[in-house]
Amino acid sequence: MLERLKNGLTNFKGVTYKKYEQLYQDLEQKQNPHTLFIACSDSRVDPERLIDSEPGEIFMIRNIANTIPTYELSQRDLTTVSSVEYAVEVLGVKEIVVCGHSNCGGCAAALGGREKLEHLPFTQNYLEPLEAVKEKIEKNHNHEDDDSKARLMEQMNVIEQVEHLKTYPWIKQKVENGDLEIEGWLYDIKTGSVFVYDEATEAFCESEEYQNVHK
Ligand SMILES: [Zn+2]
Repeated sequence: MLERLKNGLTNFKGVTYKKYEQLYQDLEQKQNPHTLFIACSDSRVDPERLIDSEPGEIFMIRNIANTIPTYELSQRDLTTVSSVEYAVEVLGVKEIVVCGHSNCGGCAAALGGREKLEHLPFTQNYLEPLEAVKEKIEKNHNHEDDDSKARLMEQMNVIEQVEHLKTYPWIKQKVENGDLEIEGWLYDIKTGSVFVYDEATEAFCESEEYQNVHK
């Protein structure tokens, strides 16, 4: 075991667990998270710190580039889909956040094209649905530089994944009934800012500004 992991476990039991001891005991039999958080596996993304949550608050799915297959293609990724199903249908979360981030390797790989992923057949297959996002960028933003295209890919990927969630009938129904909210977020690693996609303006908006508009 890495030294870092040994130290982490010791610190958890001696310090962190003690801090939350009562909470952990209350949570022993049942969880009641308010949010399903779908984020990239990237080590720099830290959802619990990002929203300052305590144990038991968020149900989490993490995969490369925070993707969810459409309902039609749900068999492609049963790990993700079953976790979404459990969070929505059993745990009854009130909100789903799809959180992308700056400098996402998964988005960059999808944007780079299939040929660059030839030595990673699983990843190539997994990222195939992002081809549609890549094609939109190539069609409408081809004149922009590589950095801008990469940022666009990260943004448009979040929007795309939010739309994928809405293809599930049981999600669509809950959203229409006002029992479930879905938001697309983009976390900027360098500045610590989170940008929220505003469907009304079709733009990402800094989270505090978004909160002011959507009180
Ligand atoms: Zn990523």
